[in-house]
Amino acid sequence: TDIARIRNFAIIAHIDHGKSTLADRLIQLCGGLTNREMKQQVLDSMDIERERGITIKAQTVRLKYTAKDGLEYTINLIDTPGHVDFSYEVSRSLAACEGSLLVVDASQGVEAQTLANVYLAIENNHEIIPVLNKIDLPAAEPERVKTQIEDVIGIDASDALEISAKTGMGMEAVLEAIVTKLPPPKTSEEPDPKVRALLVDSWYDAYLGVVALVRVRDGVIKKGQKLRMISTGAVHEVDRVGVLTPKGLVVDQLNPGEVGFITANIKAVADCKVGDTLTEDRRPTDEPLPGFQPSVPVVFCGLFPVDSSEFETLREALGRLALNDSSFHFEMETSAALGFGFRCGFLGLLHLEIIQERLSREFDLDLISTAPSVVYRIQLNNGNTIELHNPADYPDPTHIESIEEPWIKATIMVPDEFLGPVLTLCTERRGEQIELTYVGSRAMAVYRLPLNEVVFDFYDRLKSISRGYASFDYEIDSYKEGDLVKVSILINGDPVDALAMIVHRSQADFRGRAICGRLKDLIPRQLFKVALQAAIGGKVIARETIGALRKDVTAKCYGGDVSRKRKLLEKQKEGKKRMRQFGKVDIPQSAFLEALKMG
Ligand code: GDP
Ligand code: MG
Repeated sequence: TDIARIRNFAIIAHIDHGKSTLADRLIQLCGGLTNREMKQQVLDSMDIERERGITIKAQTVRLKYTAKDGLEYTINLIDTPGHVDFSYEVSRSLAACEGSLLVVDASQGVEAQTLANVYLAIENNHEIIPVLNKIDLPAAEPERVKTQIEDVIGIDASDALEISAKTGMGMEAVLEAIVTKLPPPKTSEEPDPKVRALLVDSWYDAYLGVVALVRVRDGVIKKGQKLRMISTGAVHEVDRVGVLTPKGLVVDQLNPGEVGFITANIKAVADCKVGDTLTEDRRPTDEPLPGFQPSVPVVFCGLFPVDSSEFETLREALGRLALNDSSFHFEMETSAALGFGFRCGFLGLLHLEIIQERLSREFDLDLISTAPSVVYRIQLNNGNTIELHNPADYPDPTHIESIEEPWIKATIMVPDEFLGPVLTLCTERRGEQIELTYVGSRAMAVYRLPLNEVVFDFYDRLKSISRGYASFDYEIDSYKEGDLVKVSILINGDPVDALAMIVHRSQADFRGRAICGRLKDLIPRQLFKVALQAAIGGKVIARETIGALRKDVTAKCYGGDVSRKRKLLEKQKEGKKRMRQFGKVDIPQSAFLEALKMG
């Protein structure tokens, strides 16, 4: 194809504004798949993605479109993950395009993720086409949303397209705008330039092995070529080159400006660093494409099998998940209370939830997870610095010089009537206000917040106090010193390492009391008295007691219906499996996470 007739673009939108629906429409209109092949929402192929309506891994589709000028164009849609946890991947996907469709729900308007994504697109020098979607809804207010796009984002919205991805209205105008408004890719002017291609994504395919998605900037990529990955120096021989339509289609070569996949006997997805530059081994470039930066996990938690005999199954399951997700990390961990398990690292909370859900759904594992924790930097008074991923490894406080914790910059958009409680929540979580502005009747609050205060249930709280109307986005800001302490939880005098947490000193009493109070409700009565305590070092800051069980509750069942009795006993057995014994105290699995919830 002539490079002048290639268009590479992404669709950026807040969640639920219609990105996947629009992408599916484009695939349908450009004949990428027959109707029969066109399953609902082809781009979101993983079950969980489909259920939650989020796009986790970026994918791409090459489409052919014959425009009104009579010429055939190749348009590559590079799908981007739609959640803050994956913003590095969004950024890499955008780096592979020249333009973006900015999709805004005409009945909702600009939201936090609209902003975050559009700024990434602007940073990548994109030409941006504003698209107002869901124009079929009676609540759609295109004029108001256009003004909002101009006021808040600062881009011209006078030509914004008005469409309904659902009914198909206005789709041709979208395709024409892609062809006429977006620029073709740029490539080197030299006659025989050195190969440079951006590694946009990679995944594991059961038949093909590791597949890498690349965007060629200069030169061509073809079978038999030896490619070098600049960040690691690893060299791989290309054994297959293809494009996604979205079905994989093998082609002879990928030309400048084109997007496609390669396979090259690469062992692990982890060997493909998203954002890396590929070049030819025999004639390497000395100018890698800008912006390679590995994605690092920022949230850690321990995962332990409820049934300790499932440890190997868990190891295998984690290995399988990591195979396809280079940003997920795990290593073995032992806990005095929970036995053998794994310490796992995630890009953020959603990432953590997705992995936990896949472990239970796809691998049928019953797990106990410890409280999510961020990575603390501890300066010891012997001059060493350690990175603390697990509150259980907290060093002797007398050896600590200072502790630093990660902070984020958060953008929250919320209708005016819910602003009060949102500001209170941010303040409670030690937030520092940077900016508070209005966009029509919506407030936009920008805060600096300790990640530690956000990781657990900030997002849930935000949703509930705003009845679901607040939107939230964040980026990691910097490390700052804080007055942080470790709070231990003791059950009948034994510390439960899985419940240990690191909190700001000003909140230690409150959090300690809250946990003991919750545990009191969560732990069933035993035949003896149970003492619950929260402590900082040797100092007890909160205590609760669970009284002993007085009479045998199962007595009620006797003499009754036999099958009912059997059912109850079975339930009890099931329930027992989900319990962990501490000393002689049974703690239900759900208590671990429940106990740690705030507010
Ligand atoms: P994404 O999260 O941005 O990928 O959003 P989806 O494409 O999954 O769409 C979210 C919801 O909005 C789905 O229930 C869609 O059916 C619906 N939707 C998408 N486009 C339209 C539209 O043009 N009109 C209406 N009424 N609903 C739409
Ligand atoms: Mg989607």
